[in-house]
Order: sequence, then C-alpha cells, then structure tokens
Amino acid sequence: MNRDRLERLAAEKRFIPGIYNYCDRWCERCPQTSRCLNFSISEEEFSDPETRDIRNEAFWNKLSGILGETLELLREGAKKWGIELETLDSLDDIENLKAKDVAAENHLLCRAAKRYSKMVEDWFSEGKTFFFETAAAAREGVDLEEAFDVIRWYQYFISAKIMRAVRGKVEEEEERCDEFPSDSDGSAKIALIGMDRSIAAWAMIRHYDSHSAEKVLDIIAFLDHLRQAVEKAFSSARSFIRPGFDRIDLNG
Ligand code: SF4
Repeated sequence: MNRDRLERLAAEKRFIPGIYNYCDRWCERCPQTSRCLNFSISEEEFSDPETRDIRNEAFWNKLSGILGETLELLREGAKKWGIELETLDSLDDIENLKAKDVAAENHLLCRAAKRYSKMVEDWFSEGKTFFFETAAAAREGVDLEEAFDVIRWYQYFISAKIMRAVRGKVEEEEERCDEFPSDSDGSAKIALIGMDRSIAAWAMIRHYDSHSAEKVLDIIAFLDHLRQAVEKAFSSARSFIRPGFDRIDLNG
C-alpha cells in the first residue's frame, strides 16, 4: 500500500479512532471490522492467500513496506508537534525502558498471568486422554470446540494485556497526566474481559468433562483470583470506555 492510499484510507470517516487499541484482536469474531482501520489495511494488504501466510516472504515484505510508510508519517507528525524522535531513544531512555520491562515481568500479577497460560498448556497437553460428554453437550446445543477456541484465544492474550497494564501504570504515575483516559485501565479492561470469557468457557467444559473436573475447577479458581486481583489493582478498569465497543451510560 503506498503512502497516498494509506493517508486516504486513514481519513475515511467510517473508522473509529483507536478502536484496535482495546479490542481482543479476534478479527474473525469482531462485530466492528468495517469500522477498524487496522482491519481494512490488513484486508487490502493480505487478501492474496499467498501474502496471508506468515511464513511467506511476501508477507514480511508487505509488512516492512507498511512499517516504512507508517514511520514516515510518524516522523512528519512528530515534526509538526516539535518532537525530535531521534532524541527520545538516548542510552538512558533505553536503560530506563529495560528496567521497566524487568519490573513489569516480575510483578505479581504478571507472574500469575503467565502461570495461568502454563496451566492451560498443561491441561491441553494432558487432555488427549480426557473424555468429554460431547454427545450430551451436542444434545443441549453446546459446541465444546467453541469453549476450547475461547480458552486458546485468550491463553496468552490475558498475560500480554496485564503486562501492558502494569507497565503503563508505572509510566502514568511518573507522568501524572489526567487529561486522557488511562491506557493501563483500557489494557486491564480487555484482560478482564478475556478472563470473564475464559472462566465461562472453563465452566462449560467442567460441566461436560467427566474426567478432569477437579483440575478444571482449580484453573477456574486460579483465574478468578487473578481477575479479582486485577480488578483491585485497576479499580477504574471496568468503567473504561473502549472506543467502538462500550457505550457511555448516561444514567450511571
Ligand atoms: S477492532 Fe476488531 S477488526 Fe479491528 S483489530 Fe480489533 S478485533 Fe480486529
């Protein structure tokens, strides 16, 4: 995609600014694809099946093309605002960023979220021998594959978003900027949504799992504790308004 096309596309009024910042990136299930610039760029750039294959060189060439165009736009935008991008990544800044990454990685919430990802991995790798009441589920109109898909989708997503929330909070506390909604609350909110949906999916599995119900209960309890801890650490997260997904409650 050339730069003119990118600029023209970005200027289209149908797009909701920043909608892709607090979504779950599950585009196949997203009700807002027509309003998402990110999705439209991907569709235009990667509609050829060959370019969809991430192992294909064409994919990476396309991606690096988009990156180049985007960096150019960023530089021009920064100039307009009087920001010198080159001075932002001095050695001190890089050390500072690394230190924040390490601090976030060691944070209790991030470690617990990673542990949850591992618990999911273990359960699925042991799951070959599990026996599910699939016929009973089907009779009741329940597709257990759906539940597996949900759990797999959020397995690492939750941890990535909690990490971003924790790291963002440290920066926001340093910068103390109350002018904009807090990015860390937005990240925590989508992590919470991922946990809500995963817990519901686990509950469905437990209902029809005649072999590992106790293990599943342990996972649910662990994830519920993590959810409560995130809610406590980010007490405004649930009320964060995600552009395109949440509505402002005028009666609230
Ligand atoms: S807003 Fe929807 S379409 Fe856009 S990146 Fe997120 S999930 Fe995908």
